[in-house]
Amino acid sequence: MTSSIGERIAKISSSLPSSVRLIAVSKTVPAAMMRSAYAAGIRDFAESRIQEAAKKQAELQDLSDITWHFIGHLQSNKAKKALELFSWIHSVDNLQLAQRLDQIAEQLAVTPNVCLQVKILPDPNKGGWNVTQLLNDLSVINQYKNLHIQGLMTIPPLGLNEAEILNVFNTTRDLAKTIRDQNWSHIEMQHLSMGMSGDYHLAVQAGATMVRLGTILFGDRTQRM
Ligand SMILES: *Cc1c(COP(=O)(O)O)cnc(C)c1O
Repeated sequence: MTSSIGERIAKISSSLPSSVRLIAVSKTVPAAMMRSAYAAGIRDFAESRIQEAAKKQAELQDLSDITWHFIGHLQSNKAKKALELFSWIHSVDNLQLAQRLDQIAEQLAVTPNVCLQVKILPDPNKGGWNVTQLLNDLSVINQYKNLHIQGLMTIPPLGLNEAEILNVFNTTRDLAKTIRDQNWSHIEMQHLSMGMSGDYHLAVQAGATMVRLGTILFGDRTQRM
């Protein structure tokens, strides 16, 4: 890439509707490069590995107004660490994990912001509720009062064309509305975390409120590792 991080961030930020929060996915990105992104206005960073995040959070301690988002698959035994490091967890992908996070959040006296990860189409490579399971589990999830359930997160399976990807995002938006209309006391559905570098334009079209962008801001990960 020939442009600077700052230029790329400025260009993408200005192309997004003001209702969309730009989350910079900084997995594998060195702390120094994250500083450049911060200088260009980024305040939301997302990581997918606990250890890597802990190290970089320590290195960036002086940037105290960063909001940290966890977007990776979270194992139950790392739930406590995740709650210590992150105020948002986008990838809560099963009921047991949600329950565990709720228990630990109570012990730590925190109220993490959570998105429930859904699979609109079957995808053996990913975690997440399918639609039927999720609708079934809502009455239990509604009891997890230490979690601030903010909305849904989705990642379309690989290999779809644009129309199919848009359909996944639209279906996710409609599912959030269905859930919102059920008026649960402890489940909010204001947020849609969807869209990555290759498909965020479609996600925005479908009503995403948070896009998670890595490659398009920081360059190809395989060239970095
Ligand atoms: C890596 C990752 C992203 C960012 O992907 P890019 O294609 O690099 O923008 C977004 N969301 C999740 C869950 C990821 O793991």
